[in-house]
Amino acid sequence: MLLFTPGPTPVPQNVRNAMAAETMHHRTPEFEAIFEKTRKYLFELFATDEVVMIASSGTGAMEAAVINLCHNTLLNVNSGKFGERFGKIAKAQGLSSVEIKNEWDTPVSVEAVVAAVEANSDIDAIAVQISESAGGLRHPVEEIAEAIKKINPEIMIIADGITAVGVERIDVTNIDCLIAGSQKALMLPPGLAILGLSNAAIEKIGEGKGYYFNLASEIKKQRQNTTAYTAATTLIIGLLEVLETIEKEGGFGVLYCNTARRAKATRAALQAIGLHSYPKTPAKSMTTIDDKDASKIRSVLKEEYSVNVAGGQDHLKGKIFRINQMGLIEPYESIWVVNAIELILHRLGRLEYAGLASKVYNEIYFKSALEKKEI
Ligand SMILES: *Cc1c(COP(=O)(O)O)cnc(C)c1O
Repeated sequence: MLLFTPGPTPVPQNVRNAMAAETMHHRTPEFEAIFEKTRKYLFELFATDEVVMIASSGTGAMEAAVINLCHNTLLNVNSGKFGERFGKIAKAQGLSSVEIKNEWDTPVSVEAVVAAVEANSDIDAIAVQISESAGGLRHPVEEIAEAIKKINPEIMIIADGITAVGVERIDVTNIDCLIAGSQKALMLPPGLAILGLSNAAIEKIGEGKGYYFNLASEIKKQRQNTTAYTAATTLIIGLLEVLETIEKEGGFGVLYCNTARRAKATRAALQAIGLHSYPKTPAKSMTTIDDKDASKIRSVLKEEYSVNVAGGQDHLKGKIFRINQMGLIEPYESIWVVNAIELILHRLGRLEYAGLASKVYNEIYFKSALEKKEI
C-alpha cells in the first residue's frame, strides 16, 4: 500500500531501522550527543534563534506556543480545522480570542489581519497556519508577519508549520514561533513536536507558563542537550536519521526543490484530466482536489490500486481528496497515483483513458532534463 496521506507520511526503511535499536537511557552522554547533533540540524532547518523538541503531537506544540506567547488576546486565522484549533486552545486556556474565518479554500488576506489588529489593541499574539492542511492552502504568513511587526513588533507571530517545515524554505525574519510535527514532512511516526523561537519570543516567555509545556524550563534544559522530562528518545534518534538522510540526498534545498516539482507536476497532471484543484492558493505540501466522485475515487484508489490518500473533514467529507507531497517520495510512486486516478475516471465513464496524467506528470517533473540536448 502506498501511503499518500498528508500525515502520517511513510517512514523510510533506514529510519525505522535506526529506531529499532535497543532503548537508550535519556540521561546519558550517548543520548546527549545524539540530542546535540539533532539540535544542530534543527537550527539549520528552522533558521530561528532557538529550537525546542517536545514529546507530544503537533497540537501540543500549538498549545505550548499559545500558553507561553499569548498573555492577553489571541487572533487566530480560521480557514480550516487547524486554524480553528488555535481558537479552541485559547478558549480552553481562558484567553480571549478573535477569529478571522474564511471558507476552507480561501487564504486570509494581509489586510484582514491588519484590520483586526488595528481594531483590537488587546491582541498580543497571532496564530496562523503556513499550510492549512484541512483544504491544502497556503496562507501569506511571511507577508502578514512583516505587516504586523511594522504596526507593533511586540505582537507575537505564531506560525503553524506542521505541513510547511521541511516542505519549503520559510522566511522567519518576522516569525516568533515556528511549529513542526514529526509525522508530516519530517517522515517520522507521530509523537514529537518542535518549536523554533525568536529571541523576542524567548523574552516574552520569561519564566514560562504551564507545567509540562513551560517553554522556559525546556529552553534551559535543551541548551544543555537534555530535556526537562523524559525525552522521546526513539523519535529523536529517528529524527537525526531523517535529517542525515536529507543531507545525504543533497540537503534541504534539494528536498524543497523536489517537493515543489512533485506538487506542480501532480496538480498539472490532474488538471489535464479535468480535475479541479480546490484551494485558491495551493500549498506545496499536498494536492487537494474537490470532486463529486471524491469519495468513490478515494475508495477505489485504496482497494484496487493500493494507494491511500486522505479525504476531507467536516463539511468537506466526501467532497475532496488530498494527496501528500511531503517527504522523500520517488516520482514513480506519484506517477502511479495520477495514472490510477485517470484509470478510475475512465471506469466512471468520465473520459477515455489515454495515459495523459502520467504523460503530463513526466513532462513537468522531468522537463529540465528533457530540455538538455544530450544525455
Ligand atoms: C496535522 C496538523 C496539526 C495537528 O497535529 P497533530 O500531530 O495531529 O496534533 C496541526 N496543524 C497542521 C497544519 C497539521 O497539518
